Amino acid sequence: MKKMLILVMALSMVIMLAACGKSSSSDGANGTVGVSMPTKSSERWVNDGASMKAELEKLGYGTDLQYAEDVVENQVSQIENMITKGVKALVVAPIDGESLTDVLQKAADANIPVISYDRLIKKTDNITYYATFDNFKVGVLQASYIEEKLGLKDGKGPFNIELFAGSPDDNNAYFFFDGAMSVLKPYIDSGKLVVKSGQTKMEQVATLRWDGATAQSRMDNLLSANYANANVDAVLSPYDGISIGILSSLKGVGYGSASKPLPVITGQDAELASVKSIVAGEQTQTVFKDTRELAKKAAQMANAVVKGEKVEVNDEKTYDNGVKVVPSFLLEPVSVDAANYKQVLVDSGFYTQDQLSK
Ligand code: BGC
Repeated sequence: MKKMLILVMALSMVIMLAACGKSSSSDGANGTVGVSMPTKSSERWVNDGASMKAELEKLGYGTDLQYAEDVVENQVSQIENMITKGVKALVVAPIDGESLTDVLQKAADANIPVISYDRLIKKTDNITYYATFDNFKVGVLQASYIEEKLGLKDGKGPFNIELFAGSPDDNNAYFFFDGAMSVLKPYIDSGKLVVKSGQTKMEQVATLRWDGATAQSRMDNLLSANYANANVDAVLSPYDGISIGILSSLKGVGYGSASKPLPVITGQDAELASVKSIVAGEQTQTVFKDTRELAKKAAQMANAVVKGEKVEVNDEKTYDNGVKVVPSFLLEPVSVDAANYKQVLVDSGFYTQDQLSK
């Protein structure tokens, strides 16, 4: 009777887990690689997961792919499960870069190598390599776009700008913001760019967990407190989900008309909604990071580490995680706007024209 009950409970748990749709597992001749992703709420991570699965399959691995829905504890327990299952390697994009120290010690104790995916895992010796993009350059591309669009290099101005940054627990957010400020700060210092809110420091402009709704309400506050008698000409946004929130706020107070045009507004990830917004003339720019290439690189890294082969890196000085400088491979980000989206996104097969026109 007791056995029966346990069996029924176990079965219903399996059914519940499958229904959750948060995980997918498959086996491969070379074993399984655990892939831990932050959230399905942003399209980019869904694409990352799918590409990782496909790339690992090509190399003969099954994938245990899990999404933690931006809850740190979920991510820790999902990784713990992967370790218990005996995965060959772990590929992890952390939610909070500093909260995986203990669980990755368990991975090390079980001799499971770890690759840091897109975001740097900090405060641990137990990561081998890091596959990402040139994150400083992402910020430079966003800010250079604003510089170009406003004509700052030609001496035009002053213009009003407001700044947004990403999540303070994500190492990338600092690289994006520092890259952007390397271009914008001289104009702010000279008065050609005016930040009416006065909020120019990372801790003032960060957006916890990259949340679009949080950004939207911050923009509401910025507009009502500082722009009753002025217009905002540009907004530095680090990520498409944040850009969409900022746009809603702007449209809510009448931006987007002939007398009150939308500001120049940047983004990142070339998510479908934002590319459509760019085509429609609302969001101005985004930064495309080809997650297919990132997944390929990370899968190759995992395979090489498992097999004890040489791992290709192209940067061995930038990413200090507080314990060590992690050997990294940086891919190139590309700035996208209405003028080049077809060439960059459609010609490369990332989107079909049909997807963008629907
Ligand atoms: C990624 C960005 C993404 C952001 C929000 C960052 O770590 O590098 O591509 O926009 O997280 O998900």
